[in-house]
Amino acid sequence: MARYTGSVCRLCRRENLKLFLKGERCYTDKCAIERRNYPPGQHGQARQKFSEYSIQLREKQKVKRMYRLLESQFRRTFAMAEKVKGITGEALLVLLERRLDNVVYRLGFASSRADARMLVRHGHILVNNRRVTIPSYYTRVGDVISVKEKSRQMGRVVSALEGAQRRGVPEWAEVDRENFSGKIKILPARSDITAPINEKFIVELYSK
Ligand code: SF4
Repeated sequence: MARYTGSVCRLCRRENLKLFLKGERCYTDKCAIERRNYPPGQHGQARQKFSEYSIQLREKQKVKRMYRLLESQFRRTFAMAEKVKGITGEALLVLLERRLDNVVYRLGFASSRADARMLVRHGHILVNNRRVTIPSYYTRVGDVISVKEKSRQMGRVVSALEGAQRRGVPEWAEVDRENFSGKIKILPARSDITAPINEKFIVELYSK
């Protein structure tokens, strides 16, 4: 399936939730959710009926869109989560959090996950001082993630770091903004993910 290239704000409106896909704009009153908090399209304001399937599907779409993954990538992550000991839904979310593009975003080096992915793909990000260009690289405890020295002056990195102060850094990581680097202290836990996600529905959907 091709990558979605339409308006990302439509995705938030569809899920009826701020997915924070547009960086700084998401924190202003220009946010589409603030202005038109109903699903996009001709029938967006019509009363909706929710079947069990549609609830499960929306939950999956929400998480997939939040982390900006294609269906095939999301499925693969789910398959990996199934092999992890413990609760599959929680393992899925933890795997998503550990992705390098997500960590770059969480540390504040990018204003959105899409931006973070671009930084990784274009070789601006180092893991333990080695360039890693795979956004789905799963970070581990002790990994040091940094912005390449030559890339530290990039306008998008500087402005992302300024804006990131308001987001804060998750408990499982620490960031050294002056040196454009951060470290994974511990693996993220389910309780660290504060977005309103009911992963149980995703597991139910994929278990059919
Ligand atoms: Fe979503 Fe951000 Fe657009 Fe608001 S501005 S609708 S949070 S992508």
